Amino acid sequence: MPTIDMHVHLPVPEWLEGALGPYLASAERYFRKRVTARPMEDLAAEYEKLDMVGVLLAWDAETFTGCPPLSNELVAGLIKRFPGRFVGFGSVDPHRPDAALRVRRLPDLGLLGLKLHPTMQGFDPSSDLAMRIFEAAADARLTVITHTGTSGLGAGCPGGQGLRIDLARPILLDRAAATFPEVPIVLAHAGWPWHLEALAMALHKSNIYIDISGWRYRYLPPEVLRDMKGRLSGQFLFGTDVPMFSPADLLEEFATLELPGEAAAKILSGNATRLLGLEGSGGHAKH
Ligand SMILES: [Zn+2]
Repeated sequence: MPTIDMHVHLPVPEWLEGALGPYLASAERYFRKRVTARPMEDLAAEYEKLDMVGVLLAWDAETFTGCPPLSNELVAGLIKRFPGRFVGFGSVDPHRPDAALRVRRLPDLGLLGLKLHPTMQGFDPSSDLAMRIFEAAADARLTVITHTGTSGLGAGCPGGQGLRIDLARPILLDRAAATFPEVPIVLAHAGWPWHLEALAMALHKSNIYIDISGWRYRYLPPEVLRDMKGRLSGQFLFGTDVPMFSPADLLEEFATLELPGEAAAKILSGNATRLLGLEGSGGHAKH
């Protein structure tokens, strides 16, 4: 089975200059990486070489940031252009009056899930507004992936460029996870510095998953590593946060963690394959 990268941003102008716009420079400083646009053909070739399937994430935080979205249609077009190499998650600005309707329509675009970013979208994931989004995700049988923890966007700036990281505390997702047990919720980046909340939630609720994207894995907190290797190996997911990190480097670094073989296979491939319904399809989504 191919490795599945749960967390891929598009290195295209629509994301870098459009959706991130004024927040890109702070993230580049935080990750100490200059990010430039590159053709999707390049990225597809890189993933093919690594026998990896990438989950492409759309981005719509227009109401809060004023930046144009990286549209669901763009992501849908890419997964059609590179079948078996990429699958896609849509993004819906929760403040839009038609947000719930847009969530319900994501499967029509061939998208498998919904990406949320409470910090960039400026909403509280424990609010009634958020519950309407999760209810729509349940109706559409979508997996939800949400940014949790601190953010490189806004980092090192006065007021963090107006971005609130408290909205990305994992525990704020507990209401949705309890209310919609049929919705798998992926807590991206393990929620640092609130990773203990993420671990407690995953232990308590089997529909909670954790992706390890956005990290040099050697710096993962010891509590996270211990549960990855042990009792939560069925709920952890490999992820990179491309283009902030190189997938080849991170695959190599993952190997140095020396996880038990069974846990490594689940985290690299098995858990996400099951979660996204990619069994027996070589990466093609079943509908
Ligand atoms: Zn991300």
